[in-house]
Amino acid sequence: MSDYVKSLMAEVKAKHPAEPEFHQAVEEVAESLTLVLERHPEYKTAKILERILEPERVIIFRVPWVDDQGDVQINIGYRIEMNSAIGPYKGGLRFHPSVNLGILKFLAFEQVFKNSLTTLPMGGGKGGSDFDPKGKSDLKIMRFCQAFMAELFRHIGPNTDVPAGDIGVGGREIGYLFGQYKKLRNEFTGVLTGKGLNWGGSLIRPEATGYGAVYFASEMLGTRNETLEGKTCLVSGSGNVAQYTVEKILQLGGKVVTLSDSNGYIYDEEGINEKKLQFVMELKNIRRGRIKEYTEKYKNAVYTQLDPNKDHNPLWNHKAQCAFPSATQNEINGKDAQNLLKNGIYVVSEGANMPTTLDGVKLFIDNKILYGPGKAANAGGVAVSGLEMSQNSMRYPWTREEVDNRLHIIMKSIHKTCVDIADRFGTPGNYVNGANIGGFLKVADAMMDQGVV
Ligand code: NAP
Repeated sequence: MSDYVKSLMAEVKAKHPAEPEFHQAVEEVAESLTLVLERHPEYKTAKILERILEPERVIIFRVPWVDDQGDVQINIGYRIEMNSAIGPYKGGLRFHPSVNLGILKFLAFEQVFKNSLTTLPMGGGKGGSDFDPKGKSDLKIMRFCQAFMAELFRHIGPNTDVPAGDIGVGGREIGYLFGQYKKLRNEFTGVLTGKGLNWGGSLIRPEATGYGAVYFASEMLGTRNETLEGKTCLVSGSGNVAQYTVEKILQLGGKVVTLSDSNGYIYDEEGINEKKLQFVMELKNIRRGRIKEYTEKYKNAVYTQLDPNKDHNPLWNHKAQCAFPSATQNEINGKDAQNLLKNGIYVVSEGANMPTTLDGVKLFIDNKILYGPGKAANAGGVAVSGLEMSQNSMRYPWTREEVDNRLHIIMKSIHKTCVDIADRFGTPGNYVNGANIGGFLKVADAMMDQGVV
């Protein structure tokens, strides 16, 4: 670690203690940026990185609501407006009991670079609540979403800050949030993305993150003249990103053998085909059940309960060529990374945000595998959110083919940016440097142009 990164990290940890995920995200980016700051001291003098890592604004608010039993419940709501140098704040809302300021700051920080990589004019933000939607009735979810938006509506708008979904916030939640915003503001605008198709949503938005992560993996494989055809893939999670990752892998001729949720994972040696995927979609999106039920329906598959006391996650300990972590942050630690390499994995495309710990990332880079970090690999979701904003502004929806085609072009362009920048800065094949530096340059130049604000 350079002296610059050491002193920057000491300052970040002193100013923002107890935010380990945020420290992790900043350290990874700062390490990459030392290469840029050596060549461009003007960014260092203008303290661009030091400014990027302080949110422009943090909003924290009380969310009181009444549950089905008439009891008063109180959650914490957040919106981190991280950086607006290249466009309105843009990034998802996460509803999960683990949500806290540090987690949302890491996500908002990553979002700034990711959004820049898409080539679309979007700044970075993130938000959410410690509310746990799991097992709650639709009525409770609606009441909570309305209470959450009763404060958030003051701070967002189609030209200011445009939230979307993330863990625990899918089409149902976006609907309730949009309804409340519309009622309070008395205006029908593209203030949220991930909307329903009948009321301003974009085709391919639900599919975008998963499809994008698979397109990115295909591009990486293309650098070695290979395709996904016939490759065995490990996928974690079973939510939005995981489901459409599986769908696209199957379309491209790959085989998927795992899926998970926060309780455990299933291993299906025969492969999860289209029919089995439909079962998972119905299980997760309609019945809102647990992945364990997969093994009740498909008896050949094996379910393993997650054991938090284990030093590794057995999901990552199966023979395969590709891994698509699509659940949550830090789901692949150093030991898991070792297991993946030992089992022959040489493609990792991150659908989730920061799913790999710093020691795991180092192992992937040192072993020169095709490692696509989340900032680049999962940018397809926010890219199609950007396309949803364009369609809302034009009041004209594009066809499925048109949006998918644009998504594909954007993922190819992000991949090319990563490859070109990694080469330019003397670290060929290092997609982490490519994504961090590529995302940084556009934002940094905009901040230089706009002065110290
Ligand atoms: P989702 O639909 O809510 O699904 C999340 C999945 O991950 C569920 O299977 C969930 O299991 C599992 N999970 C959540 N927290 C977990 C934990 N602590 N340990 C183990 N499993 C956990 O969310 P999503 O939209 O697919 O998001 C998944 C990841 O992709 C997140 O890192 C998110 O930030 C990232 N991402 C999403 C988008 C997007 O467009 N949605 C875009 C870019 C990146 P349970 O059901 O048991 O909780």
